[in-house]
Amino acid sequence: MSNSRNNIDRCSFCGRDRRSVNVLIAGISGYICENCVEQASQIINEEMKKQGKLDLGNVKVMKPDEIKKFLDQYVIGQDEAKKFLAVAVYNHYKRLMQPRQSKTEDDVEIEKSNIILVGETGTGKTLLARTIARMLHVPFCIVDATVLTEAGYVGEDVESILTRLLQAADYNVDAAEKGIVFIDELDKIARKSDNPSITRDVSGEGVQQGLLKLLEGAIVNVPPQGGRKHPEQKMIAIDTKNILFICGGAFDGIDRKIAQRLNTRVVGYNNTKETEQIDRDNLMQYIAPQDLKSFGLIPEIIGRLPVLTYLNPLDRNALRNILTEPKNALIKQYQKLFHIDGIKIHFDPDVLDLIVDKAIEFKLGARGLRSICEAIMTDVMFNVPSTGEKEVTITSDYAREKLERVSANKLKAA
Ligand code: ADP
Repeated sequence: MSNSRNNIDRCSFCGRDRRSVNVLIAGISGYICENCVEQASQIINEEMKKQGKLDLGNVKVMKPDEIKKFLDQYVIGQDEAKKFLAVAVYNHYKRLMQPRQSKTEDDVEIEKSNIILVGETGTGKTLLARTIARMLHVPFCIVDATVLTEAGYVGEDVESILTRLLQAADYNVDAAEKGIVFIDELDKIARKSDNPSITRDVSGEGVQQGLLKLLEGAIVNVPPQGGRKHPEQKMIAIDTKNILFICGGAFDGIDRKIAQRLNTRVVGYNNTKETEQIDRDNLMQYIAPQDLKSFGLIPEIIGRLPVLTYLNPLDRNALRNILTEPKNALIKQYQKLFHIDGIKIHFDPDVLDLIVDKAIEFKLGARGLRSICEAIMTDVMFNVPSTGEKEVTITSDYAREKLERVSANKLKAA
C-alpha cells in the first residue's frame, strides 16, 4: 500500500494526506485517518446488527440466556430473579438502541420496566446487582435508600442518586442518561405509619415522592458533587427517562401481609383447594403489588416498578454450594491465598457441613459464611506461612475446636 507518496504520509484507506486530516494514526505498514476510523466503526456496527448481536456503540450485548448463564457463575439459585433481571437488562439495551429523535415507523415506543427484588437479607440481592454490573457496558451505581431524606432535612436529597450515577459515568451526561441504578434497602423508605398526618415522615413517604419523579422519567437538576442543593451551585440537568432502576429490599414482615391476603382471599371465596397448595414455608413466592402497598410503599411508586420478583431464602443445600461453587467462592479464595505461598489446602467435606450448620444455627444466612470461615482459618493463615508446610488439611475436629471459642454475637459483628 502506498502511504507516503512524495514523502507525505497519507491515509492508506482514503488517500488523504496528513495536511487534510486532523488525526492520522500510524500502523505497521500504513496509516488511517479519523474519517476512515469512524466509517469503519459504522460498518462494524451494521455488521454486528445483521449478525443478531445487538450493539451499543461498539459493544456486544448478551442475550437474556447468556446473561443468566453469566449470573449463574457467581450467584447460586435465585433462577426467577435472574431471569427477570436478564430480560430487563436486555430490554434496556434494546430500548437504548431505538433511534432517539425519530420514532420507529410503527410509532411504538418501548417504555422502561424498572424492577423490584424482594428477598430476605443475605439472599443475594446486592450480589446480583454487583454481578450484573460486571458485564454491563453502561454506567452503573448502587445507592442505599436509608440515607435519603426529604429536601431540607438531615440526610441526602434524592437527587444524590443521580450524582452517583454521574460519577460512575465520569460526568458524561449522555452515558449517565443510559445507566442503571440499583437502589438498595427500598423497604426502609416505606411509610412509617398509616396516618401520615401525625408526624412528618421525612425519610419515608417524602422520599418516595421524590423518588417517584426519578422513576417516572423527568429532567432533574443534579448537584455534580452531591450533598445538599444550594442556590449558587452549578447544576447538571439529567433526563431520567432512559435510566433503568432496580430496587431491592428485605421487606421484613411482608410475609405476614402476604399470608393475610392469601387467607382473606381463600376464605372470601371459600376455596379450600387453594389453601392446600400454598407453600407456607416460602410465602415470598406469592408476593404481589398490593403487599408492597400494605407494607407502606405508595401506589405511584409501585406502579413505576412494574417488574416485581423475589429471592428465595437460602436452604442448607444452597449455603453449601455458595461455599464452593461460585467463581469466587469462599473456599476457592482460601485455596488461592495459600496457593500464592505454594501451599495446598484441603477441607474435609465435614468442615463445609459444619460451617453451614453454624450459619443456620446462628441465623446468619450466607452473610455469616465468611465470618465463620475466618474464625476457622485465622490461626492457620497466621501460622502456616512460617512452618514451611506445603500441604495442609482442615479437619472437622480442628474446625469445631476453633468455632467453640467464638460466640454468635462475635460472628455477627464480624
Ligand atoms: P442482600 O443484598 O440480599 O442482603 P447480599 O447480596 O449482600 O445480600 O449477600 C451477602 C453475601 O452472601 C454475598 O456477598 C455473598 O457472598 C453471599 N450470598 C448471598 N446470596 C448468595 C447467592 N445466592 N449465591 C452466592 N452467594 C450468595
